[in-house]
Amino acid sequence: MRTTPIQKVVEYNNTRIEIHGGWREVGGNCIVVRDGGRKIVFDNGIRFKELRRFYSGRVEPLGVAELRDLGIIPGPEVYDKAEALYISHAHMDHIGLLSAVPLDLEVVLPDMQIAEETLFSWYRGSRTWLAYLLPTYRTKIINARNLSEDSHGVIAIPVSHSAYPANSFLYLGKNLTLFYSGDLRLEPLALANVQDLGEVLKKLGIDSVDVALIEGTNFSLELEHFPVTPQLFRESLTYALSIYDLVAISLDPLDLEALLFILSSASMFGRYVAISSKRLLWALDYLRESLGYNLQNVYVALEVGSTPRTPVDTVELAEVINQGKDYILVVEPVAFLEILRKLRLWIRELEFTNSAVILMDPEPRESIKEVEENTIARWLRTLGFEIYRLRVSGHYLPHQLRELIDILKPKTFIPIHTENPLPMETVYKRAMRS
Ligand SMILES: [Zn+2]
Repeated sequence: MRTTPIQKVVEYNNTRIEIHGGWREVGGNCIVVRDGGRKIVFDNGIRFKELRRFYSGRVEPLGVAELRDLGIIPGPEVYDKAEALYISHAHMDHIGLLSAVPLDLEVVLPDMQIAEETLFSWYRGSRTWLAYLLPTYRTKIINARNLSEDSHGVIAIPVSHSAYPANSFLYLGKNLTLFYSGDLRLEPLALANVQDLGEVLKKLGIDSVDVALIEGTNFSLELEHFPVTPQLFRESLTYALSIYDLVAISLDPLDLEALLFILSSASMFGRYVAISSKRLLWALDYLRESLGYNLQNVYVALEVGSTPRTPVDTVELAEVINQGKDYILVVEPVAFLEILRKLRLWIRELEFTNSAVILMDPEPRESIKEVEENTIARWLRTLGFEIYRLRVSGHYLPHQLRELIDILKPKTFIPIHTENPLPMETVYKRAMRS
C-alpha cells in the first residue's frame, strides 16, 4: 500500500508534529504528535476536496484501501504504534472512517453514546461507503476525559461548535504543551456543556502553550456571506416568528446548540416546538437525561413513526399545519424532503401561505450533503413556502483569532483547516509583537 506524503512537519524541542491532513485545506484533519517514545494522533478526517475530485453520482469508493491509496483518508502508518486517536467531533472531516482504524488502537470520542445514537445508527447497514464510518464491534472506544489529564497527557476541553459535543485538546507532553483546536467558535449559540476556553486554561494554571494548531475555516478564499452572529440569528428568528404563521427550521441533526437556541426562542414566543425527524430524537433524550432540560413545550410529530426514550407528547402534522402560528416545526434535511413529499400526496390542495422555512445550512465544506439544498427548496416552493437561508458559523470569526491567540500565547503557531493561512499568520505575528 502506498504511503501518503506528510503535508507538513514542525519540530519543537525534540517533539515532531506531523500534519497528515488539513494543511492548506479545509477538511481531512489528521495530526500526529511524536514526543519521546510517545505517539498520539488528533483526528482521522476525510479529505472532502479530494473525495469530490474522484467520486460523484454512482462512482463510489470501492473500499478503505482505495480511499487510502488516493490519499483521501490517513494511511496505515499514521496509526502504527500510536497510543491513542483523539476525535474532536463527529463531522466527517474529523471523525473519518473508524472502520479503517486498527483494532489495538484506543479511539477517544467526545461521547460514545451520542456517536452511537447519531452517526453510527444512521449509517449502520448503509449500502454506500458511509457504512465505513462505523467502528467494528472490537474497536477500543472510550470517552474523552473532560477538564483533567488522562493517561496519555491529554485534557479534553468541551467547546462550542455546530456538531455536538466538540472538544479542543490540550496535550501536556514531556517536551512541550500543545493545543489542538479541532473546530470551535468563541460565541456559543447555547451553553449545553460548553466551556469558556480562557477560564479553563486559567483554572488549569496554564498561561501560555508552546505549540498551537488552530483551525481557520472562516479565513476563506471564497466570497462569504456576512457572518450571522448568535445575536443576529436571534433577531432574524424573532422577526420571522413575529410575521409568519408556521415557521419551519431545517438543521443539522448534530447541531444541539442550534436546537437548544430554537427551544428557548419558542418559549419566549409562546410557541410549541414540533420535532419531525427521527434523526433529532437523540437530542431530546440528551437534553432531558443529561442536561435536565424541561421539554414541556416540545412535541414529536406522529408521522416520525418513533418516539424518544424520554416521554414527550405527540402531535399530528396536520394539527401543526392548521395551527401554524402556535408552532415552530424543526426538521433535518433528509426527513424534511420525505415529509414534504408525503404531505403533497396526502393533502392535494395543500398550500402554505404566510409560512416560512429557514434552512440552517449545515457546514457546507465539512460533511456530505445527503440532500442538496436546491432540491429541498424546489419542493418547498411547490407548497408555497417562503424560503430563507440563515446559517450561524460553527467556527470563530476572523476578527476573533486575536482573542484566541491572547488566551493561548503560543510560541509556535500552526494554522490548519484553512486554504488561506497567511492572514492568520499576520494576526499571530502582530499579536505576539504587542
Ligand atoms: Zn466541524
